[in-house]
Amino acid sequence: MTKELYKLPALKYGYADLEPYISEEQLRIHHDKHHQAYVTNLNSLLQMMEKSRIEGTDFDYKATAKAVAFNLGGHVLHDYFWWEMTPAGNATKEPVGELAEFIKEDFGNFERFKKEFTQTAASVEGSGWAALTYCTGTKRLMIMQIEKHNVNIFPDLPILMVVDVWEHAYYLDYKNERGKFIDAFWNILNWEEINNHFKKVQRRSME
Ligand code: MN
Repeated sequence: MTKELYKLPALKYGYADLEPYISEEQLRIHHDKHHQAYVTNLNSLLQMMEKSRIEGTDFDYKATAKAVAFNLGGHVLHDYFWWEMTPAGNATKEPVGELAEFIKEDFGNFERFKKEFTQTAASVEGSGWAALTYCTGTKRLMIMQIEKHNVNIFPDLPILMVVDVWEHAYYLDYKNERGKFIDAFWNILNWEEINNHFKKVQRRSME
């Protein structure tokens, strides 16, 4: 039986639609080349394992597990990244609905949350991400700092939104100035969508 492979999701907006915050060239390379590479590598690993099982041969179990974690992490995190962004004209400047209330409860106010998230992203060593997560057990928002695509993950905490601070995410537009890119990023977030996702995550946790 052949199982499904992973696919690069199409963007819900045009490549130039996040300008001036993310340029067409930057977005195109990031989506079509970098994200695509994680999907391609992940599928190759899955096919290699399937083949090895059919043939009854060994593969490098340690290296494979590591590579799957890296490429699967890369794929999933980029999925969130494309999904949560929207052209600036449609973006809301601040969180809305239930999520806005939780941010206020857990961080005091949006400015404090924004500062913590920004600093978490800015201080990633090398390549990585900041992600807002939600602990369904304690009903608490928590900010996670991910190195690469897979290190320092909080297991089992659903992700609500992310920012990619790999140099490949911003180098064409902002050169080495990661902070400028993170500042720009806040202008193109679709908080309505993020809040809808948050509500789904909460409902799932009650089942
Ligand atoms: Mn990326």
